[in-house]
Amino acid sequence: MIVVLSKNISSHDKDRLRSFLSERGFSVREQVFGDDDILGATGKGSVDIRELSLLPGVERVAQTSKPYELASRETKSDDTIVTIGPVKIGGSRISVIAGPCAIESREQIMETAALVRESGAVMLRGGAYKPRTSPYAFQGLGMKGLEYMKEAGDAYGMPIVTEVVSLELAQQMMALTDMFQIGARNMQNYELLKKVGSLGKPVLLKRGPAATIEEWLLSAEYLLASGTKDVILCERGIRTFETYTRNTLDISAIPVVRKLSHLPVIVDPSHAVGIRAKVSPVALAAIAAGANGLTVEVHPRPEEALSDGPQSLYPEQFEKLMRDIEALAPVVGKELMRTPAPVSAERKIVSGGFNLKGSSAPAAQKGEPAGKGPGEITGEYAIAFSGESGAYADQAIIRAFGEDSTRVAVPSFKAVFDAVLEGKARFGMVPIENSLAGSVHENYDLFIRYPDIAIVGEIKLRIVHCLIGAKNASLDTIRVVRSHPQGFAQCREFLDQHPEWMLESTTDTGGAVASIARENLSDVAAIAGEVAAQLYGLKVLKEGIETNPLNYTRFFILSRRESGTEMEVPSLLHTGAALPPGYESQIPNKASIVFSTPNEPGSLFACLKILSERGINMSKLESRPIPGKPWRYMFYVDVSIPEEESVFDSAMEELKTKTEDFRFLGAYRASL
Ligand code: PEP
Ligand code: MN
Repeated sequence: MIVVLSKNISSHDKDRLRSFLSERGFSVREQVFGDDDILGATGKGSVDIRELSLLPGVERVAQTSKPYELASRETKSDDTIVTIGPVKIGGSRISVIAGPCAIESREQIMETAALVRESGAVMLRGGAYKPRTSPYAFQGLGMKGLEYMKEAGDAYGMPIVTEVVSLELAQQMMALTDMFQIGARNMQNYELLKKVGSLGKPVLLKRGPAATIEEWLLSAEYLLASGTKDVILCERGIRTFETYTRNTLDISAIPVVRKLSHLPVIVDPSHAVGIRAKVSPVALAAIAAGANGLTVEVHPRPEEALSDGPQSLYPEQFEKLMRDIEALAPVVGKELMRTPAPVSAERKIVSGGFNLKGSSAPAAQKGEPAGKGPGEITGEYAIAFSGESGAYADQAIIRAFGEDSTRVAVPSFKAVFDAVLEGKARFGMVPIENSLAGSVHENYDLFIRYPDIAIVGEIKLRIVHCLIGAKNASLDTIRVVRSHPQGFAQCREFLDQHPEWMLESTTDTGGAVASIARENLSDVAAIAGEVAAQLYGLKVLKEGIETNPLNYTRFFILSRRESGTEMEVPSLLHTGAALPPGYESQIPNKASIVFSTPNEPGSLFACLKILSERGINMSKLESRPIPGKPWRYMFYVDVSIPEEESVFDSAMEELKTKTEDFRFLGAYRASL
């Protein structure tokens, strides 16, 4: 039974409640649960619920129709998000944990960590104590192995998860482990669950090979009732009469558990099928069925693995699986999380100008030409965006350039173009299109006015809106909500549930959050991305409040053309503009062009025919009025670049003859 305490309960009333419950045969534990403080009462006590509900300091008493309570969605309706260092698992994220079955050596875990991180894993897995079916099989390197894995996790910015097999080891492994794994064989080892739950670390709870869903959730209840609030459930296949695969993945358990429980559910396709070739299809099926993530066995050389080699993916297979998941994620309203760079101790964000002297040198400077003394930023490595820190464009920069990049906040989109043109920033990041709200016309118009600016990259960002408030705020204390009008429009259904809130418009979402931090307000919240909450040390009061989760914004990375390269056919694909680090090796497969056509019948048709005849796919066509020429239009076109560069160049050459004001905006790699 769960007693949710009132926000302002006195310590005297709390003590009275505790004694009331223990006198009636319950063991009582105080916990923070979601947004609430609760007293969890376990044991065989009996109590008159109405009497209990009337005691001072009691907000409500939650009793569920299920034998598990803390794990039940009846007790907590919104998804639990488990935080493991910089990683979050749950809600609309897809988080992938990867690594070898067992840690075999320092070199092996280091090598695997580098590989899986490169492909986008957010956590590193590996067994130090292996529960093997045969006593003669490799049993793991023990604590030494765990030390190696911690070193690898630290080196590559990934928290680690490892299986704990005994009560004594739990305490010992504590300092080196970011998340404990309870293995399938130990799912019903209740003493182990109680011990591990009491340590307060996040726990990955595998489903026993012969456990029902209810038994599994009751094991989660043991962990939650013992003190941890962070439990992730992991379906890893159950035992059936089928022998072709190692186990049978119970795919239907995913939607069933997602309905019964608020806890995140991930899937282990490796142990479920036991055959390498079957891992990826089953993993994708799990994502399609609603899993919040995966834990996958990957080995640099599976044929040499000391355990579970036949089910371990080759690094290339893992890389391909991650790309497939990234493509599938939007279909199920989710986003694949890539390894977050560790949050820098020092924020390299500068607001409102370029007086950058005195800031520390950006990490991007590594490997760049020498000559800039430390402590001096010339803007050469900076990336400009419009708005305040934490705006979605800021997030897009982090996605493209990493957490350590030097992000420069400027007051307008035009200021981004100016900064790049004048060399005050090497790159710029501007939104061009939102999947719900349509094109950002201002930026399209700026491309016309800035012929020396080229597009060199594309980023698609899933927009997850959060309600963000001060550390001491809660949904009940909020009176005012600030955001960009787009933020309000996209969260309409959520805001309609709170008609008492006053809405105040701001010019950007990051600015809304900044104002709360600056003014230290507990009754004002902002709608913005989660990164903004982290940057300003504020709290996410509610995540994923957008009405339509399929909400994406497409950003362009801007760079200055080398003079004289503009519109030079056949070198159109090579604008001479500087490319972001890591982009040099990418072969562009998409280009953006803009042109107007003579005002005569069939002129646009003639242009599109040029593309169609060469099999060039057009993914976007947009028309914009030409300033100063009423009723004349510019056409913005996004096209695919065929493998044969000369085919593309000849199409562009011919287009120039059929159009007016033809302009090649840039070639880049399409973002998934
Ligand atoms: C593992 O993940 O290393 C493992 C042994 O899995 P399970 O407990 O699911 O068999
Ligand atoms: Mn294994």
